[in-house]
Amino acid sequence: MHLRRKLIAGNWKMNGNLAALAEIAATADAAREIAGVDVAICPPFTLIAPAVTRSGGLVIGAQDCHAAESGAHTGCVSASMAKEAGARLVIVGHSERRADQHESDADVRAKAETALRHGLTAIVCVGESEGDRAARGHVAVVERQLAGSLPDSWEEGELVVAYEPIWAIGTGKVATPADIGEMHGAIRAALVQRFGDLGDRIRILYGGSVKADNAAAIFGVANVDGALVGGASLTAAQFVPIIEAAA
Ligand code: PGA
Repeated sequence: MHLRRKLIAGNWKMNGNLAALAEIAATADAAREIAGVDVAICPPFTLIAPAVTRSGGLVIGAQDCHAAESGAHTGCVSASMAKEAGARLVIVGHSERRADQHESDADVRAKAETALRHGLTAIVCVGESEGDRAARGHVAVVERQLAGSLPDSWEEGELVVAYEPIWAIGTGKVATPADIGEMHGAIRAALVQRFGDLGDRIRILYGGSVKADNAAAIFGVANVDGALVGGASLTAAQFVPIIEAAA
C-alpha cells in the first residue's frame, strides 16, 4: 500500500466574513506545530483572496468552479479565476450543489477536468442518500457516481475523492466505522480497477459530521485518508483537534 498523507479540508459553505479569517490564522498557527498532515480551508469565493493573506501556508480552496474558461455564465466563477484569487484546490460535486444546482455526474466531471487542467487539486464528492442506504443500494450508487464524475486521465493537479453520505452531512449522524470501511474499501477497489497503481495513491476523504470527538475513530478506518469538514471547520477551536487526530 502507498503511504497517503492525510488531508483535512474545511468547507465553510456559505458562512464566514472578513472577521472570521482570524480563525484561519489561528488554525495556521496551530497547524504549523502538527507534522505530516495537509490542511486546506475553502471559504466562499469572496473570501479567497483575503484568506490567502492570513493563511500562513495553509492551502486555500474554492467550493466550486465552472467547467468553462469564461463566457456568458452570470454569477459563476471559473477555475482560473479562483486560481488567480489564490485557490490551490476546489471542491466539485458537493451534494448540496448536486441537489440545489441540479449538477449531474457529467457536470461534476467537466468541472473536475477543468480544475485539474489548471493544476488545482480537485476534491470530487460522492455519497448516497438515506433512501439509497435503506434500500441497500448505497455502494452501487456511489460506484455509479464515481464512474460518471471522475475524469479518465489528467496531467496536472491532484484528484481526491470525498465520500460524504448525504444523511450524515450537518446532521450530527455520523456513519459508523463499519459503514465507512465498507464504502472506502469499495471506492478504493473502483479506483484501482479504473486507474491501476494510481488508484492506490488517490486520497479518499470521509465527510459528514466529523468532529473532534469522532475524528480519531474515523481516521483509524482503512482507506480513510482524511476528512472534508463542514461545521467543525468554522472555528480553530473545533478544527485544530481534528487536524491533530490525523497526525
Ligand atoms: P458537516 O459537512 O461536517 O457540517 O457535516 C460536511 C460537508 O458537507 O462537507
